[in-house]
Amino acid sequence: MSVTYRDALRAALLYLVFSAAWLLLSGYLLNNFFDDSLERLRWQLINGYVWVLLSAGLIFIARARLLRCLGIGAKLRERNADRERLRQAAAVFDCTREGVLVTNLEGLIVHVNRAFIDITGYHCKDVLGQRPSLFKSGRHPPTFYQAMFAALHSVGEWSGEIWNRRKSGEIYPQWQTIRLTHDDEGRPSHYVAVFSDISAIKKSEHELMHLAHHDPLTDLPNRLLFTDRAEQALASAQVHKRGCALLMIDLDHFKMINDSLGHTIGDQLLKAVAERLSAMFGPGITLARLGGDEFAVLAESCPQLVQAAALAQRIIDGLKKPFVIDRHQLFINTSIGISLFPGDALSVEQLLRNADSALFKAKSAGRNGYALYTEELTAHAQQRVEIAFELRRALDQQELRVYYQPVHDLKTSRLIGVEALVRWEHPQRGLVSPAEFIPVAERTGLIAEIDAWVMGQACRQMCQWHQDGVALSFVAVNVSSRLFARRELYQQVAQVLHETGLDPAYLELEVTESAVMEDPEVALEQMHRLRELGVRLAIDDFGTGYSSLLRLKRLPVQKLKIDQGFVAGLPWDEDDAAISRVIVALAQSMGMQVHAEGIEQVEQAAFLLEHSCDLGQGYWFGRPVPAGQLNWTHAPIIA
Ligand code: C2E
Ligand code: MG
Ligand code: MG
Repeated sequence: MSVTYRDALRAALLYLVFSAAWLLLSGYLLNNFFDDSLERLRWQLINGYVWVLLSAGLIFIARARLLRCLGIGAKLRERNADRERLRQAAAVFDCTREGVLVTNLEGLIVHVNRAFIDITGYHCKDVLGQRPSLFKSGRHPPTFYQAMFAALHSVGEWSGEIWNRRKSGEIYPQWQTIRLTHDDEGRPSHYVAVFSDISAIKKSEHELMHLAHHDPLTDLPNRLLFTDRAEQALASAQVHKRGCALLMIDLDHFKMINDSLGHTIGDQLLKAVAERLSAMFGPGITLARLGGDEFAVLAESCPQLVQAAALAQRIIDGLKKPFVIDRHQLFINTSIGISLFPGDALSVEQLLRNADSALFKAKSAGRNGYALYTEELTAHAQQRVEIAFELRRALDQQELRVYYQPVHDLKTSRLIGVEALVRWEHPQRGLVSPAEFIPVAERTGLIAEIDAWVMGQACRQMCQWHQDGVALSFVAVNVSSRLFARRELYQQVAQVLHETGLDPAYLELEVTESAVMEDPEVALEQMHRLRELGVRLAIDDFGTGYSSLLRLKRLPVQKLKIDQGFVAGLPWDEDDAAISRVIVALAQSMGMQVHAEGIEQVEQAAFLLEHSCDLGQGYWFGRPVPAGQLNWTHAPIIA
């Protein structure tokens, strides 16, 4: 029952009326009924006691009412203060820039604020009664949400970065705090999530990161990012046993452009250089501007120095074409220093230092060129790069020739076959040995074209000999180990046979023992395929490739060619003699022919004949010569 001020006032007035009535009544009684002064005194006493008692009772009631009334007032004040607080909270709730979302314990949304609507694009009616999973971006794995609910259950609070989806479908990052709230009795009642949209912060963070790691002029990675990427690349190269190359590029006489045409033109030129360089490289190559006119390139898969040198040459050539800036036609030359991982250095710092000193060397050597960290390497690489470039031209301009070296039957001394050996008729250097250019061709990939060409020539020549009545049993062609494992070889051989019309039985393919043993299973498969075409197969340079006898037995091969290294010491070197004897015995036991190469003396031929070697090839019989110079008539006799 509530007591108001009015109740309290009424109690006080009642008390005053009662007091006045009491005073009047007792005065009247006293004056009219008591004459005796003793009786009057007694009555006055009794009346006084009763008055005091009744007054005390009434005062007590009035006081209690007043106090209760005062208590209610406090409560009312409290309630008003609460109401004020709630009003303020509601204002804060609605005006805050943070989105607020309240769910009940079942996880259904019961309240959202205005910022929530602004941030998410959803209206109240879209979300009330829904679950917050409506906003899931799909960016977090289920474990993320499991951890979030686990924290809410254990400590009643979770905060962290979360990616959610706006109504528009856009996903964006939020910083969110979710808290479990309780009612007056301390029972869990709601979950309140307060979040802010941090996409702007993220964006500026990203922009800051970009600024810190990129050169503002060219937008290329700066030294910091380059070093970081290079460190990662070296770590990965170490694991995968790959080689990397670091190239330091410096524009020659760039200062002159700055001094004569001004820094604006200089800057535009640097931008244009950066663009041209970027367009040259694909994935696996990082380009950076280290400062001024200095750029760096990291090639992540560059196992050979010849590849690094070729890359440097490509850069030099690529920057040679003029740059047109503000109607100025600018020509620039470039110097490049190269350092290799792991050959020259094992750390990025050291690679940079080495490339820098190589760059200095390139500049001192007259600029417009590249230098490797060590001079010998530079010369070697330059020579190889030159060969690689020239080989391309050699193929186009038909500078390659096929020479044929006779192969004799050791028993009858008859010339029964030839080996086709490629030569390069270099316009300046004369005849270049395949030992010099075949390895370069293998690295640059030109070997496929060369081998296909030689095979075509040899098959055509064999057809010609047959037409001329020359009864040769085979023409042998070398197949590079690079091509041997490749599927195209089969197609290539089939095509050449088809085009030339040569009976496959006359074509012998020589593949080195090491190529076969590199991947014996692939080799076996390839050999069977080639055998199906009807061609003969020989293992070249036998004795140098550590064949497994078991594997050898399974190969569909018709011939072993004893490497000339073992023939050289015959017949006096005991080891060579023993090895040659073993190879002959081995081949015969497996039903293969034996062919010895590098026979330079009659004693070698005699020894091999004595030990039942079938065929011989070497300078003693005849050197490789052009087809027209083969001597068919005068075969030397091994007496
Ligand atoms: P190979 O197949 O073992 O060829 C034999 C090499 O020994 C040839 O060297 C030949 O000229 C040389 N030779 C022959 N008889 C003697 C001799 O009595 N004494 C000495 N010291 N050497 C002799 P060439 O022509 O310089 O070829 C070297 C290697 O180049 C060849 O070794 C072969 O592996 C490769 N090659 C040659 N032509 C081709 C080709 O068209 N394609 C491929 N992939 N490789 C080829
Ligand atoms: Mg050969
Ligand atoms: Mg050989």
